[in-house]
Amino acid sequence: MNIFKEATEQLREASKYIKTPEDVLAVLTTAERKLSVSIPVTMDDGTRKLFHGYRMQHNSLLGPYKGGLRYHPQVNEDEAQALAFWMMVKNAVVNVPFGGGKGGIQVDPKSLSPGELERLTRSFVRRIAHVIGPTIDVPAPDVNTTAQIMEWIADEYARVVGMTSDESSTLRAVVTGKPVSYGGSEGREEATGLGGATVLKNILLKKEGELTYPLTVAIQGFGNVGYFLAQYLYKARTSDDQPMFHIVAVSDSKGGITAQALDPEKVMADKKENKSISDKLGKRITNDEILELDVDILVPAALEHVISKVNVHNIKANIILEMANGPTTKEAAQILDDNGCMVIPDILANSGGVTGSYFEWEQNMKGQTWTIEHYRRELHTYMTQATDEVWGAHKKHKVSLRTAAYIVAIQRLVAAIDR
Ligand code: GLU
Repeated sequence: MNIFKEATEQLREASKYIKTPEDVLAVLTTAERKLSVSIPVTMDDGTRKLFHGYRMQHNSLLGPYKGGLRYHPQVNEDEAQALAFWMMVKNAVVNVPFGGGKGGIQVDPKSLSPGELERLTRSFVRRIAHVIGPTIDVPAPDVNTTAQIMEWIADEYARVVGMTSDESSTLRAVVTGKPVSYGGSEGREEATGLGGATVLKNILLKKEGELTYPLTVAIQGFGNVGYFLAQYLYKARTSDDQPMFHIVAVSDSKGGITAQALDPEKVMADKKENKSISDKLGKRITNDEILELDVDILVPAALEHVISKVNVHNIKANIILEMANGPTTKEAAQILDDNGCMVIPDILANSGGVTGSYFEWEQNMKGQTWTIEHYRRELHTYMTQATDEVWGAHKKHKVSLRTAAYIVAIQRLVAAIDR
């Protein structure tokens, strides 16, 4: 089954608990607009190459389309559509005034020089500039896209609409996740990880009594999301000042390591030194093995569908914190549920990223600059509120946390249709 169709079926199933009419379901499961573009780029050797990119605008009931841009060889229309759909749901769960969008370019950015990467990005922006804008559609970082790339996007967008972005801070709100020196927010980089740690701790608190600390954690993916999550989990303490977590394994796209307790700071230093995680700090493991470790908490923080019927029976963790988008197939999620594994779904767990983006956008639109303390406090409020609501629906309807999150989202979206 294609990934978009599978994603929309999650919503359809949840809708049964709150009796959603078919015409409403049709609106929520159909993209409003899809843009597919070819992107010509002059390479360093003077040859011209064509790349393919997408911007999917799934739904704008709650506000401007919002969601990341991914640079990855696997990017395709179906995946981008599923990711845009999940953004609609995620934004509704965490209650930010955005719709759902997503896009990307089919490319391995690591194979490009910095100049090629910039020209590719600017060429892409010229192709999509007519459908994005601060109140229309606001892209952001995703897999392999950085603050620097966001700056190029804002700058090229300003050129296309005939203004330099120095002239208007509002114009920079066309994209979030920018460098702090360019209208970005201190706090946005860590927001997804901090948000995930907040959600996890809140849920553990609700389960208190059933747990013995420290809980062991394995994290697949050590990009922006996995790294900051690891940092916050590493620092977390119980009420009697014991470590809440031991990070026993981490990996990046090339594989990972396992050890008694890892310090994320040291792993990052090693990753920087050796271009990817080496075996200096632990025993080498593959990206498949990390998922099957005997840990309390498993965190997929890389790509979608890594937990499927192929490996689900080997998963030993009792809690899965989905920091990636769509890491668990529908079939695998059902099996985990039947086995009593609690999955904290992506649409709640990783919603700190877009919430942080909302704060950045809000500051750009109003010409404000928040302190990092204020930013973190606000993030905590949004994440806690969303977790409490999802937990409430989970208890009320006796459903998985994923179905509960969909219920919360559908209710908010339906209220917007009726407005
Ligand atoms: N790419 C992130 C996500 O999947 C962030 C999106 C945003 O900030 O707009 O949620």
